Amino acid sequence: MPDFSIGVDLGGTNLRIAAISTEGQLLEKITLGVKVALGRDHVIGEMCDAIKRLSDQYRGSGRFVGAGIGVPGIIDMETGMMMKSANLPGWSEYPVRDEIERRLGARVFLENDANVAALGEKWLGAARDVDNMAMVTLGTGIGGAIILNGKIFYGMNGMAGEFGHVTVEPNGVPCGCGNHGCAERYASATAVVRMAREAIESGQAPELARAASSDAEFSARSIYNLALQGNEDARQIFRRFGVALGILLADLVNVLNLDMFVIGGGVVSAWDAFAPPMFAELRERSLVYAATAPDDHLETDHFEKTHFEKKEGASAQIAAYTRKKTIITRALLGSDAGLYGAARIPAS
Ligand SMILES: [Zn+2]
Repeated sequence: MPDFSIGVDLGGTNLRIAAISTEGQLLEKITLGVKVALGRDHVIGEMCDAIKRLSDQYRGSGRFVGAGIGVPGIIDMETGMMMKSANLPGWSEYPVRDEIERRLGARVFLENDANVAALGEKWLGAARDVDNMAMVTLGTGIGGAIILNGKIFYGMNGMAGEFGHVTVEPNGVPCGCGNHGCAERYASATAVVRMAREAIESGQAPELARAASSDAEFSARSIYNLALQGNEDARQIFRRFGVALGILLADLVNVLNLDMFVIGGGVVSAWDAFAPPMFAELRERSLVYAATAPDDHLETDHFEKTHFEKKEGASAQIAAYTRKKTIITRALLGSDAGLYGAARIPAS
């Protein structure tokens, strides 16, 4: 049996822990409901118990090389403390990493949740074969991560990759960050519900209003289901979503010129509804993308594809010089990306 590490994904509702071999094979995965309200010490206690249980179980067959923990927050990589976390009040200014290391007697690495998802996709998912990639995670908000030469790019103090707060609408809706028109106010699960509620309040979307009144949860998924059934108001919301995401991607492609941009997170399941306008916007706005988009594109819309193949001007000149393509694609590992990525850190 091979050596193994433990990957932990500490989310807002679940704490998931997996033993994964250093070759990338999932040995065992456990999911615990996490009661964040019971406080930091309770959550850390549950996490350490589960890590111990798994590591003891597999230690007989291989060496335990350490644990990686993906957390929703910005981490000071030197001190192993959380600088900021909206979902985990009371965790900042506390030596999270050192405390867990002390309890486990093993090497422990803390990493931002968007970064571990990117590391997972880089190791075993969509970005296996590329060294330069970015990941955009569409969930409650938008998470972002940049991998350059196979390694996370942190920026000066770990705050690089805040894609969710890139402006896509100068006079757009206010965001909790203090800005207006941030990408995550238009292209996230929260944004889908907000846009649906606004359409309902305008009185122009009777079918959405009916659906909302009969569905207690009325989530992004319910609105996507309506779009699938052909509801025009719901489809319009995902078009708006796709345009915003396309603007964000155009900026990222122009600035970074990476091999691959992986789109993940729960809302990526609505790909069919938002991807065609996303690609259209991307082509319109990014010279670099227009010059490097693959011919056998993942797009399904025939009109857009033929439109796109007519390269003109500067992008046509660049296209003549490069055979490398910018790949924009869906994540492959789903919600397990973070577990694999977290486990990869002590193993690499
Ligand atoms: Zn913002």
